Amino acid sequence: MCMLDLFKVVSIKSCANDDIFTLQIHIIKGQRYPLVYHRRRCWYQRNRENVGASSFAPYPQSSAEKRICCWECTEDWDNKDAILLYALLALAELVNHSFSEQNHAEEFLNKRESVKDRLCTTLQEIRDGTYGSGPRRYAAYILSNLGYYGFQDKLGKRLMGAYEDEECSDMRLLFANGNGASVNKVILAVRCPTLLPPKEGAHSGTVQEIRMSANVDTLALVKLLEFAYSGYVEVESSTLKKLKTLARHCKTKILLQMLCRGRPKWGSSIPRIDLPLALTPKLIHFSDVILVPKETNMASFNCRLCSSTSPHAHCHRFILSSGCEYLRALFRSGMQESHLDRLKVPVSWLGLTKLVNWFYCDELPKPPSGCRWTNMDTDAKLQELQAYVEIYSLTEWWIMEDLQNDCAKVILSCLESARELSIKTIELAASFSMWKLVEAAAEHAAPIYHQLRDSGELDELDDELVNLIRTAAVQFSQQGG
Ligand SMILES: [Zn+2]
Ligand SMILES: [Zn+2]
Repeated sequence: MCMLDLFKVVSIKSCANDDIFTLQIHIIKGQRYPLVYHRRRCWYQRNRENVGASSFAPYPQSSAEKRICCWECTEDWDNKDAILLYALLALAELVNHSFSEQNHAEEFLNKRESVKDRLCTTLQEIRDGTYGSGPRRYAAYILSNLGYYGFQDKLGKRLMGAYEDEECSDMRLLFANGNGASVNKVILAVRCPTLLPPKEGAHSGTVQEIRMSANVDTLALVKLLEFAYSGYVEVESSTLKKLKTLARHCKTKILLQMLCRGRPKWGSSIPRIDLPLALTPKLIHFSDVILVPKETNMASFNCRLCSSTSPHAHCHRFILSSGCEYLRALFRSGMQESHLDRLKVPVSWLGLTKLVNWFYCDELPKPPSGCRWTNMDTDAKLQELQAYVEIYSLTEWWIMEDLQNDCAKVILSCLESARELSIKTIELAASFSMWKLVEAAAEHAAPIYHQLRDSGELDELDDELVNLIRTAAVQFSQQGG
Protein backbone atom coordinates (compact mmCIF):
# COMPACT_ATOMS: atom_id res chain seq x y z
CA MET A 1 0.00 0.00 0.00
CA CYS A 2 1.24 3.42 -0.87
CA MET A 3 2.58 5.41 2.03
CA LEU A 4 0.50 8.41 0.98
CA ASP A 5 -2.70 6.56 1.71
CA LEU A 6 -1.65 6.07 5.26
CA PHE A 7 -0.16 9.40 5.98
CA LYS A 8 -1.23 12.76 4.69
CA VAL A 9 0.48 15.97 5.70
CA VAL A 10 -1.09 19.33 5.14
CA SER A 11 1.04 22.34 5.96
CA ILE A 12 -0.75 25.53 6.69
CA LYS A 13 0.51 29.03 6.94
CA SER A 14 -1.50 31.51 8.86
CA CYS A 15 -3.79 33.60 6.73
CA ALA A 16 -3.11 36.81 8.61
CA ASN A 17 0.64 36.96 8.57
CA ASP A 18 2.76 34.10 7.39
CA ASP A 19 5.31 34.84 10.05
CA ILE A 20 2.87 33.99 12.82
CA PHE A 21 2.70 30.26 12.78
CA THR A 22 2.45 27.18 10.66
CA LEU A 23 0.55 24.05 11.44
CA GLN A 24 1.04 20.54 10.23
CA ILE A 25 -1.85 18.17 10.16
CA HIS A 26 -1.20 14.48 9.91
CA ILE A 27 -4.09 12.34 8.88
CA ILE A 28 -3.46 8.68 9.48
CA LYS A 29 -5.93 6.13 8.20
CA GLY A 30 -7.77 4.32 10.89
CA GLN A 31 -7.19 7.11 13.37
CA ARG A 32 -10.21 9.17 14.24
CA TYR A 33 -8.53 12.50 14.82
CA PRO A 34 -5.88 14.27 12.76
CA LEU A 35 -2.65 15.12 14.60
CA VAL A 36 -1.85 18.79 14.67
CA TYR A 37 1.62 20.21 15.24
CA HIS A 38 2.50 23.83 15.95
CA ARG A 39 5.54 25.10 14.16
CA ARG A 40 5.86 28.68 15.38
CA ARG A 41 4.88 30.79 18.29
CA CYS A 42 1.26 31.74 18.24
CA TRP A 43 0.01 35.23 17.75
CA TYR A 44 -0.93 35.63 21.37
CA GLN A 45 2.55 34.83 22.63
CA ARG A 46 4.10 37.26 20.18
CA ASN A 47 1.68 40.01 20.98
CA ARG A 48 1.04 39.48 24.63
CA GLU A 49 2.78 42.73 25.48
CA ASN A 50 0.36 44.60 23.24
CA VAL A 51 -2.95 42.99 24.08
CA GLY A 52 -2.72 42.66 27.85
CA ALA A 53 -3.49 39.53 29.77
CA SER A 54 -6.80 37.80 29.38
CA SER A 55 -8.89 37.34 32.47
CA PHE A 56 -7.54 33.88 33.17
CA ALA A 57 -3.99 34.36 31.91
CA PRO A 58 -1.70 32.19 33.99
CA TYR A 59 1.02 34.85 33.89
CA PRO A 60 1.75 37.32 36.67
CA GLN A 61 0.47 40.75 35.76
CA SER A 62 3.04 43.34 34.87
CA SER A 63 2.72 46.84 36.32
CA ALA A 64 1.65 48.13 32.91
CA GLU A 65 -1.23 45.66 32.82
CA LYS A 66 -2.25 46.62 36.33
CA ARG A 67 -2.54 50.22 35.31
CA ILE A 68 -5.09 49.34 32.68
CA CYS A 69 -7.11 47.02 34.90
CA CYS A 70 -10.34 48.86 34.01
CA TRP A 71 -9.70 48.50 30.34
CA GLU A 72 -12.16 45.94 29.15
CA CYS A 73 -11.01 43.67 26.39
CA THR A 74 -14.30 43.13 24.63
CA GLU A 75 -12.92 41.01 21.84
CA ASP A 76 -11.23 37.80 22.78
CA TRP A 77 -10.07 36.47 19.46
CA ASP A 78 -7.50 33.86 20.24
CA ASN A 79 -6.62 34.30 23.90
CA LYS A 80 -9.56 32.17 24.76
CA ASP A 81 -9.89 28.66 23.34
CA ALA A 82 -6.65 28.96 21.36
CA ILE A 83 -6.31 25.22 20.76
CA LEU A 84 -9.86 25.08 19.44
CA LEU A 85 -9.03 27.93 17.08
CA TYR A 86 -6.03 26.07 15.68
CA ALA A 87 -8.09 22.94 15.22
CA LEU A 88 -10.67 24.96 13.30
CA LEU A 89 -7.98 26.60 11.20
CA ALA A 90 -6.78 23.15 10.36
CA LEU A 91 -10.29 21.96 9.60
CA ALA A 92 -10.91 24.99 7.37
CA GLU A 93 -7.80 24.09 5.39
CA LEU A 94 -8.89 20.49 5.19
CA VAL A 95 -12.30 21.47 3.91
CA ASN A 96 -10.72 23.76 1.30
CA HIS A 97 -8.06 21.23 0.40
CA SER A 98 -10.29 18.19 0.18
CA PHE A 99 -12.90 19.95 -1.88
CA SER A 100 -10.68 21.96 -4.15
CA GLU A 101 -11.40 19.63 -7.07
CA GLN A 102 -15.08 19.66 -6.41
CA ASN A 103 -16.81 22.97 -6.75
CA HIS A 104 -18.84 22.56 -3.64
CA ALA A 105 -18.14 20.90 -0.37
CA GLU A 106 -21.87 20.58 -0.23
CA GLU A 107 -22.07 18.14 -3.12
CA PHE A 108 -19.31 16.04 -1.69
CA LEU A 109 -20.81 15.91 1.74
CA ASN A 110 -24.29 15.16 0.48
CA LYS A 111 -22.99 11.66 -0.15
CA ARG A 112 -22.00 11.49 3.49
CA GLU A 113 -25.10 12.93 5.15
CA SER A 114 -24.40 11.64 8.62
CA VAL A 115 -20.85 13.03 8.68
CA LYS A 116 -22.12 16.34 7.44
CA ASP A 117 -24.87 16.50 10.07
CA ARG A 118 -22.50 15.76 12.92
CA LEU A 119 -19.91 18.19 11.64
CA CYS A 120 -22.48 20.95 11.19
CA THR A 121 -24.02 20.44 14.62
CA THR A 122 -20.64 20.71 16.30
CA LEU A 123 -19.62 23.74 14.27
CA GLN A 124 -22.94 25.46 14.97
CA GLU A 125 -22.48 24.89 18.68
CA ILE A 126 -19.07 26.56 18.50
CA ARG A 127 -20.32 29.38 16.30
CA ASP A 128 -23.21 30.35 18.55
CA GLY A 129 -21.66 29.37 21.87
CA THR A 130 -19.63 31.29 24.41
CA TYR A 131 -16.28 30.62 22.76
CA GLY A 132 -13.72 33.27 21.77
CA SER A 133 -14.40 35.31 18.64
CA GLY A 134 -11.66 33.49 16.70
CA PRO A 135 -13.12 29.99 17.00
CA ARG A 136 -16.63 31.36 16.46
CA ARG A 137 -15.64 33.18 13.28
CA TYR A 138 -13.76 30.17 11.93
CA ALA A 139 -16.65 27.83 12.69
CA ALA A 140 -18.90 30.22 10.74
CA TYR A 141 -16.37 30.34 7.93
CA ILE A 142 -16.31 26.55 7.60
CA LEU A 143 -20.10 26.45 7.76
CA SER A 144 -20.29 28.99 4.93
CA ASN A 145 -18.61 26.35 2.77
CA LEU A 146 -21.53 24.09 3.59
CA GLY A 147 -24.29 26.58 2.80
CA TYR A 148 -24.90 28.16 6.23
CA TYR A 149 -24.21 31.87 6.43
CA GLY A 150 -24.11 34.11 9.48
CA PHE A 151 -24.57 33.77 13.22
CA GLN A 152 -27.69 32.86 15.15
CA ASP A 153 -28.29 34.93 18.27
CA LYS A 154 -31.18 35.94 20.49
CA LEU A 155 -31.67 39.34 18.89
CA GLY A 156 -31.91 37.79 15.43
CA LYS A 157 -34.39 35.15 16.59
CA ARG A 158 -36.44 37.86 18.27
CA LEU A 159 -36.58 40.05 15.15
CA MET A 160 -37.31 37.04 12.94
CA GLY A 161 -40.25 36.18 15.20
CA ALA A 162 -41.65 39.68 14.80
CA TYR A 163 -40.92 39.72 11.05
CA GLU A 164 -43.32 36.86 10.58
CA ASP A 165 -46.00 38.92 12.33
CA GLU A 166 -47.49 41.02 9.54
CA GLU A 167 -49.33 43.39 11.86
CA CYS A 168 -46.07 45.02 12.91
CA SER A 169 -44.97 45.99 9.41
CA ASP A 170 -45.09 49.42 7.78
CA MET A 171 -44.09 48.49 4.25
CA ARG A 172 -45.02 45.82 1.74
CA LEU A 173 -42.70 44.65 -1.00
CA LEU A 174 -44.68 43.36 -3.99
CA PHE A 175 -42.83 40.76 -6.04
CA ALA A 176 -43.18 40.37 -9.77
CA ASN A 177 -44.69 36.89 -9.33
CA GLY A 178 -47.66 38.30 -7.40
CA ASN A 179 -46.43 37.39 -3.92
CA GLY A 180 -45.05 39.84 -1.43
CA ALA A 181 -43.38 40.37 1.93
CA SER A 182 -44.33 42.64 4.80
CA VAL A 183 -41.28 44.42 6.14
CA ASN A 184 -40.21 47.18 8.48
CA LYS A 185 -38.58 50.31 7.13
CA VAL A 186 -36.28 50.62 10.11
CA ILE A 187 -34.81 47.16 9.51
CA LEU A 188 -34.29 47.84 5.82
CA ALA A 189 -32.66 51.18 6.66
CA VAL A 190 -30.22 49.48 9.02
CA ARG A 191 -29.55 46.29 7.08
CA CYS A 192 -30.13 46.84 3.35
CA PRO A 193 -30.63 50.57 2.84
CA THR A 194 -30.88 50.56 -0.94
CA LEU A 195 -34.11 48.51 -0.77
CA LEU A 196 -35.82 51.59 0.65
CA PRO A 197 -37.33 53.97 -1.87
CA PRO A 198 -35.42 57.26 -2.09
CA LYS A 199 -36.78 60.25 -0.19
CA GLU A 200 -38.23 58.19 2.59
CA GLY A 201 -40.42 60.52 4.64
CA ALA A 202 -41.25 60.40 8.31
CA HIS A 203 -43.53 57.82 9.84
CA SER A 204 -47.00 58.20 8.36
CA GLY A 205 -48.91 55.35 9.97
CA THR A 206 -49.86 53.68 6.72
CA VAL A 207 -48.37 50.67 5.01
CA GLN A 208 -46.39 51.76 1.98
CA GLU A 209 -46.36 49.43 -1.02
CA ILE A 210 -43.27 49.03 -3.17
CA ARG A 211 -43.38 47.10 -6.42
CA MET A 212 -40.16 45.20 -7.06
CA SER A 213 -38.65 45.02 -10.53
CA ALA A 214 -39.07 41.73 -12.42
CA ASN A 215 -35.28 41.59 -12.64
CA VAL A 216 -35.03 40.92 -8.92
CA ASP A 217 -34.93 37.22 -8.18
CA THR A 218 -37.72 36.53 -5.69
CA LEU A 219 -36.03 33.68 -3.85
CA ALA A 220 -32.82 35.66 -3.50
CA LEU A 221 -34.79 38.60 -2.14
CA VAL A 222 -36.59 36.40 0.39
CA LYS A 223 -33.20 35.06 1.53
CA LEU A 224 -31.77 38.56 1.76
CA LEU A 225 -34.68 39.67 3.96
CA GLU A 226 -34.24 36.60 6.15
CA PHE A 227 -30.62 37.57 6.69
CA ALA A 228 -31.55 41.20 7.31
CA TYR A 229 -33.85 40.21 10.17
CA SER A 230 -32.09 37.23 11.68
CA GLY A 231 -28.41 37.69 10.79
CA TYR A 232 -28.43 34.14 9.46
CA VAL A 233 -29.50 32.36 6.31
CA GLU A 234 -29.20 28.96 4.63
CA VAL A 235 -28.60 29.15 0.90
CA GLU A 236 -28.59 26.43 -1.75
CA SER A 237 -25.80 26.67 -4.30
CA SER A 238 -28.35 27.36 -7.04
CA THR A 239 -29.36 30.67 -5.41
CA LEU A 240 -25.88 31.70 -4.32
CA LYS A 241 -24.93 33.74 -7.36
CA LYS A 242 -28.21 35.67 -7.50
CA LEU A 243 -28.07 36.40 -3.79
CA LYS A 244 -24.51 37.68 -4.15
CA THR A 245 -25.59 40.11 -6.85
CA LEU A 246 -28.52 41.28 -4.75
CA ALA A 247 -26.44 41.63 -1.59
CA ARG A 248 -23.94 43.74 -3.51
CA HIS A 249 -26.72 45.92 -4.86
CA CYS A 250 -28.36 46.30 -1.44
CA LYS A 251 -25.07 47.12 0.28
CA THR A 252 -25.43 44.20 2.66
CA LYS A 253 -21.68 44.02 3.18
CA ILE A 254 -21.63 41.43 5.94
CA LEU A 255 -23.71 38.97 3.95
CA LEU A 256 -21.68 39.59 0.81
CA GLN A 257 -18.42 38.80 2.61
CA MET A 258 -19.87 35.56 3.91
CA LEU A 259 -21.30 34.57 0.53
CA CYS A 260 -17.88 35.15 -1.04
CA ARG A 261 -16.49 32.79 1.61
CA GLY A 262 -13.68 35.15 2.49
CA ARG A 263 -11.51 34.08 5.38
CA PRO A 264 -12.25 35.95 8.59
CA LYS A 265 -9.75 38.72 9.23
CA TRP A 266 -7.56 37.97 12.21
CA GLY A 267 -8.94 39.84 15.19
CA SER A 268 -12.21 40.81 13.51
CA SER A 269 -15.30 40.85 15.69
CA ILE A 270 -18.49 38.81 15.37
CA PRO A 271 -20.83 40.62 12.98
CA ARG A 272 -23.93 41.81 14.78
CA ILE A 273 -27.26 43.26 13.77
CA ASP A 274 -26.43 46.89 14.35
CA LEU A 275 -29.87 47.99 15.57
CA PRO A 276 -28.57 50.93 17.66
CA LEU A 277 -27.93 52.51 14.25
CA ALA A 278 -31.71 53.04 14.15
CA LEU A 279 -31.35 55.43 17.11
CA THR A 280 -28.77 57.65 15.41
CA PRO A 281 -29.79 61.06 14.00
CA LYS A 282 -29.64 59.72 10.44
CA LEU A 283 -32.32 57.08 10.99
CA ILE A 284 -34.23 58.23 14.05
CA HIS A 285 -37.03 59.67 11.87
CA PHE A 286 -38.33 56.11 11.41
CA SER A 287 -39.28 56.02 15.08
CA ASP A 288 -42.98 55.81 15.85
CA VAL A 289 -43.22 55.87 19.62
CA ILE A 290 -41.70 57.93 22.45
CA LEU A 291 -40.79 56.43 25.80
CA VAL A 292 -41.04 58.84 28.71
CA PRO A 293 -39.32 58.10 32.05
CA LYS A 294 -40.55 59.04 35.52
CA GLU A 295 -40.33 62.70 36.53
CA THR A 296 -36.70 63.69 36.70
CA ASN A 297 -34.92 66.78 37.91
CA MET A 298 -32.58 66.76 34.98
CA ALA A 299 -31.53 70.35 34.28
CA SER A 300 -31.50 70.33 30.50
CA PHE A 301 -32.35 67.87 27.80
CA ASN A 302 -31.82 68.36 24.12
CA CYS A 303 -33.47 66.18 21.52
CA ARG A 304 -32.28 66.16 17.93
CA LEU A 305 -35.68 65.16 16.62
CA CYS A 306 -38.18 67.27 18.54
CA SER A 307 -38.28 70.37 20.70
CA SER A 308 -39.31 68.71 23.96
CA THR A 309 -36.90 69.57 26.78
CA SER A 310 -37.91 66.81 29.19
CA PRO A 311 -36.04 63.49 28.92
CA HIS A 312 -37.53 60.99 26.47
CA ALA A 313 -36.40 58.33 24.02
CA HIS A 314 -37.64 57.91 20.45
CA CYS A 315 -38.10 54.21 19.69
CA HIS A 316 -39.68 51.82 17.23
CA ARG A 317 -42.83 49.87 18.03
CA PHE A 318 -41.60 46.97 15.96
CA ILE A 319 -38.39 46.59 17.95
CA LEU A 320 -40.11 47.05 21.32
CA SER A 321 -42.77 44.50 20.32
CA SER A 322 -40.13 41.99 19.27
CA GLY A 323 -38.67 41.94 22.77
CA CYS A 324 -41.80 42.24 24.88
CA GLU A 325 -45.00 40.28 24.55
CA TYR A 326 -46.83 42.80 26.73
CA LEU A 327 -45.99 45.75 24.48
CA ARG A 328 -46.77 43.71 21.39
CA ALA A 329 -50.23 43.04 22.76
CA LEU A 330 -50.63 46.66 23.87
CA PHE A 331 -49.70 48.17 20.49
CA ARG A 332 -52.16 46.00 18.61
CA SER A 333 -54.93 46.02 21.21
CA GLY A 334 -56.74 48.98 19.67
CA MET A 335 -57.04 50.43 23.18
CA GLN A 336 -56.53 54.13 23.62
CA GLU A 337 -52.95 53.57 24.74
CA SER A 338 -52.11 51.61 21.59
CA HIS A 339 -52.53 54.73 19.44
CA LEU A 340 -50.69 57.09 21.72
CA ASP A 341 -47.27 58.01 20.49
CA ARG A 342 -46.01 58.55 24.05
CA LEU A 343 -45.66 55.70 26.48
CA LYS A 344 -44.88 56.39 30.13
CA VAL A 345 -42.34 53.97 31.57
CA PRO A 346 -42.06 53.96 35.39
CA VAL A 347 -38.26 54.02 35.54
CA SER A 348 -35.68 56.79 35.96
CA TRP A 349 -33.91 58.26 32.93
CA LEU A 350 -30.84 56.13 33.70
CA GLY A 351 -33.07 53.06 33.88
CA LEU A 352 -34.75 53.98 30.59
CA THR A 353 -31.44 54.29 28.74
CA LYS A 354 -30.46 50.84 30.00
CA LEU A 355 -33.85 49.44 29.02
CA VAL A 356 -33.66 50.89 25.50
CA ASN A 357 -30.17 49.45 25.19
CA TRP A 358 -31.56 46.04 26.04
CA PHE A 359 -34.26 46.30 23.38
CA TYR A 360 -31.76 47.29 20.67
CA CYS A 361 -28.80 45.06 21.60
CA ASP A 362 -30.48 42.28 23.57
CA GLU A 363 -27.96 43.02 26.27
CA LEU A 364 -28.43 44.77 29.59
CA PRO A 365 -25.60 47.31 30.00
CA LYS A 366 -23.47 46.56 33.02
CA PRO A 367 -22.72 49.14 35.72
CA PRO A 368 -19.18 50.57 35.76
CA SER A 369 -16.70 47.98 36.99
CA GLY A 370 -13.22 47.80 38.49
CA CYS A 371 -11.72 51.02 39.83
CA ARG A 372 -14.47 53.09 38.25
CA TRP A 373 -17.03 51.33 40.44
CA THR A 374 -14.81 51.43 43.53
CA ASN A 375 -14.23 55.15 43.08
CA MET A 376 -17.91 56.02 42.69
CA ASP A 377 -19.52 57.58 45.75
CA THR A 378 -22.37 55.81 47.48
CA ASP A 379 -25.03 58.06 45.90
CA ALA A 380 -23.85 57.33 42.39
CA LYS A 381 -23.68 53.60 43.17
CA LEU A 382 -27.20 53.75 44.55
CA GLN A 383 -28.45 55.51 41.44
CA GLU A 384 -27.05 52.70 39.33
CA LEU A 385 -28.59 50.08 41.58
CA GLN A 386 -31.91 51.89 41.59
CA ALA A 387 -32.04 51.80 37.79
CA TYR A 388 -31.71 48.01 37.84
CA VAL A 389 -34.27 47.61 40.62
CA GLU A 390 -36.72 49.73 38.62
CA ILE A 391 -36.20 47.64 35.50
CA TYR A 392 -36.54 44.49 37.61
CA SER A 393 -39.88 45.74 38.86
CA LEU A 394 -41.00 46.72 35.36
CA THR A 395 -40.19 43.29 33.95
CA GLU A 396 -42.68 41.78 36.38
CA TRP A 397 -45.38 43.89 34.78
CA TRP A 398 -44.14 43.69 31.19
CA ILE A 399 -43.49 39.93 31.57
CA MET A 400 -39.85 39.86 30.48
CA GLU A 401 -38.33 36.94 32.31
CA ASP A 402 -34.88 36.95 30.67
CA LEU A 403 -34.37 40.62 31.38
CA GLN A 404 -35.52 40.12 34.96
CA ASN A 405 -32.91 37.42 35.49
CA ASP A 406 -30.24 39.65 33.98
CA CYS A 407 -31.27 42.47 36.35
CA ALA A 408 -31.18 40.18 39.38
CA LYS A 409 -27.66 39.07 38.44
CA VAL A 410 -26.43 42.66 38.14
CA ILE A 411 -28.09 43.75 41.41
CA LEU A 412 -26.64 40.85 43.37
CA SER A 413 -23.16 41.34 41.93
CA CYS A 414 -23.34 45.04 42.89
CA LEU A 415 -24.30 44.06 46.43
CA GLU A 416 -21.47 41.56 46.46
CA SER A 417 -18.95 44.31 45.82
CA ALA A 418 -20.62 46.94 48.01
CA ARG A 419 -22.39 45.41 50.99
CA GLU A 420 -23.00 48.88 52.39
CA LEU A 421 -25.67 49.28 49.71
CA SER A 422 -27.75 46.37 50.89
CA ILE A 423 -29.85 48.37 53.39
CA LYS A 424 -30.80 50.96 50.77
CA THR A 425 -31.48 48.19 48.28
CA ILE A 426 -33.73 46.43 50.78
CA GLU A 427 -35.69 49.66 51.26
CA LEU A 428 -35.87 50.24 47.53
CA ALA A 429 -36.94 46.71 46.70
CA ALA A 430 -39.51 46.76 49.51
CA SER A 431 -40.97 49.99 48.12
CA PHE A 432 -41.52 48.13 44.84
CA SER A 433 -42.86 45.07 46.75
CA MET A 434 -40.12 42.97 45.19
CA TRP A 435 -39.89 40.47 48.03
CA LYS A 436 -37.61 37.97 46.34
CA LEU A 437 -35.11 40.77 45.84
CA VAL A 438 -35.57 41.97 49.45
CA GLU A 439 -34.67 38.50 50.69
CA ALA A 440 -31.63 38.26 48.45
CA ALA A 441 -30.40 41.68 49.62
CA ALA A 442 -31.02 40.69 53.25
CA GLU A 443 -28.78 37.68 52.74
CA HIS A 444 -26.06 40.05 51.55
CA ALA A 445 -26.51 42.22 54.63
CA ALA A 446 -26.45 39.21 56.99
CA PRO A 447 -22.65 38.97 57.43
CA ILE A 448 -22.44 42.62 58.52
CA TYR A 449 -25.63 42.58 60.63
CA HIS A 450 -23.91 43.47 63.94
CA GLN A 451 -21.98 46.27 62.30
CA LEU A 452 -25.17 47.66 60.79
CA ARG A 453 -27.04 47.41 64.09
CA ASP A 454 -24.28 49.10 66.10
CA SER A 455 -23.90 51.93 63.61
CA GLY A 456 -27.62 52.68 63.92
CA GLU A 457 -28.20 52.18 60.22
CA LEU A 458 -31.03 49.75 60.93
CA ASP A 459 -32.94 52.30 63.03
CA GLU A 460 -34.53 53.98 60.03
CA LEU A 461 -35.68 50.67 58.62
CA ASP A 462 -39.13 49.14 58.98
CA ASP A 463 -39.32 46.62 61.87
CA GLU A 464 -40.43 43.94 59.47
CA LEU A 465 -37.37 44.47 57.29
CA VAL A 466 -35.03 44.54 60.30
CA ASN A 467 -36.51 41.20 61.36
CA LEU A 468 -35.81 39.83 57.93
CA ILE A 469 -32.15 40.82 58.12
CA ARG A 470 -31.87 39.46 61.67
CA THR A 471 -33.29 36.11 60.54
CA ALA A 472 -30.85 36.04 57.63
CA ALA A 473 -28.00 36.86 60.06
CA VAL A 474 -29.01 34.02 62.39
CA GLN A 475 -29.11 31.61 59.46
CA PHE A 476 -25.75 32.91 58.29
CA SER A 477 -24.10 32.31 61.68
CA GLN A 478 -25.72 28.86 61.97
CA GLN A 479 -24.21 27.92 58.63
CA GLY A 480 -20.83 28.73 60.15
CA GLY A 481 -20.39 32.16 58.57
ZN1 LIG B 1 -8.78 49.91 37.34
ZN1 LIG C 1 -37.47 64.09 20.89
